[in-house]
Amino acid sequence: MAAEHFDAIVVGAGPAGASAALVLASSGLSVALLDRGEFPGAKNMFGGVLYRHAIEALVGEAWKENGFPVERVVTEQRYWLLGPESMVTVGHRHEAFGREPNAWTAFRARFDPWFAAKAEQAGALGVYQTTVVDLLRDPKTGRVTGVLTDRDEGELYADVVVIADGVNSLLREKLGLPRWRPDQVSLAVKEVLALPRETIESRFNLEGNEGVTIEFLGDTSQGMVGLGFLYTNKESLSLGIGVMIDDLARHRIAPYELLESVKRHPMIRRLIAGAESVEYSAHMIPEGAYDALPPALAGDGWVLCGDAAGLVNFLHREGTNLAMLSGQMAGRVIAEAHRRGDLSARSLMAYDRELRASAIGRDLRRIRRMPSMLHRWGGRRLFGDLVGGINRAAYRYFLADGTPKRQAEAEALREIVRAAGGWRPLMRLAWDGFRGVRG
Ligand SMILES: Cc1cc2nc3c(=O)[nH]c(=O)nc-3n(C[C@H](O)[C@H](O)[C@H](O)COP(=O)(O)OP(=O)(O)OC[C@H]3O[C@@H](n4cnc5c(N)ncnc54)[C@H](O)[C@@H]3O)c2cc1C
Repeated sequence: MAAEHFDAIVVGAGPAGASAALVLASSGLSVALLDRGEFPGAKNMFGGVLYRHAIEALVGEAWKENGFPVERVVTEQRYWLLGPESMVTVGHRHEAFGREPNAWTAFRARFDPWFAAKAEQAGALGVYQTTVVDLLRDPKTGRVTGVLTDRDEGELYADVVVIADGVNSLLREKLGLPRWRPDQVSLAVKEVLALPRETIESRFNLEGNEGVTIEFLGDTSQGMVGLGFLYTNKESLSLGIGVMIDDLARHRIAPYELLESVKRHPMIRRLIAGAESVEYSAHMIPEGAYDALPPALAGDGWVLCGDAAGLVNFLHREGTNLAMLSGQMAGRVIAEAHRRGDLSARSLMAYDRELRASAIGRDLRRIRRMPSMLHRWGGRRLFGDLVGGINRAAYRYFLADGTPKRQAEAEALREIVRAAGGWRPLMRLAWDGFRGVRG
């Protein structure tokens, strides 16, 4: 590859990078979109739920095209608190989600190529099977001037480099930005389990292309801070669990063993019965919220988007949409800076300010206390003891054994208080939980 110069180079053709490339190319700039995968999405995995609002913000109603590569429309979301052999559930289902999709289940190996193709159709040059190994800098000023790839003569130059290489971002490290602490990232393992369409539809009470998402916590994370998921695809289920890396290291449990034990849980076992495992994968998720964002999201010749910046709202299971919208914002700021002829760090910092002031920044700030709260209380107390207590309370409440109802209710409440370690800790936990989600 001869040394070429672009207005912008985007590293990573995931949702963040493809969005940035799409906006930049649509603004008439010359853009190279690089990815190490054989094709965009080849190496990517997620749970995974995609959100219409972000896709629409980038490609309008292209999701109505034939061949939009998604699995099912999410019409129902369930949340499960799991005891060893029980669950307490809450959920929401609405016919409106079937008429006007809010979210879809999908596979990244199918969605990412479709999405990156939109950037290519707008004029971005897709360069795949190409790994970026370093940033190039002006020796005098230190400004980022391009990237070094693993190709022969692999230097590529640009006015701005958009860093969208995901949670394991090598380029973030090359910039000298802080690495994730083990309490700021989780490791998630996922299995795709094939099942006939009719079996899925009857087991999950679905018609046509309707889909269900289930998020579960409790007994399944074996005393660690973690969340599991089970999503319906057309002819398969996506089952997975993510736990914080520091917890995983302390508990010395192999991720695949954790997933195997999830599969044996009585509430899950029956939903996946007869399914054949067709794919297994693992990936990290940045879960540090606002306080784990780097001090600056832009600098001299670079901007940082998506997971590489830590933009995941773990409480709401949202990452792809934050990635897309951050890529869009970065693309707009760069295009505008280009138009003004001012690509200085100061000018690119408009992206940092805009992102922090946006719904993304506001939501991540709102849950900023949540990660430390979860660690302070710990997985054993919250996900083991407390969720176990809630399950025992529900059992006591629903058990019709002749006990007067007032007494049964008092016993149920006692189960929860005991599980929390007494009234005082329960009140403190309620207050901490409230502050955790209210900012
Ligand atoms: C188990 C799991 C479940 C999840 N569930 C959901 C969900 O249901 N809904 C949701 O919205 N989000 C979910 N997320 C989060 C979501 O997947 C991410 O937030 C999102 O993919 C981030 O997009 P991105 O473009 O920033 O990074 P990525 O999607 O990671 O893309 C980065 C790209 O950069 C490329 N790359 C990396 N390094 C290099 C390099 N050196 N040179 C060239 N290319 C490189 C990679 O190949 C990749 O294509 C989940 C994540 C996991 C792990």
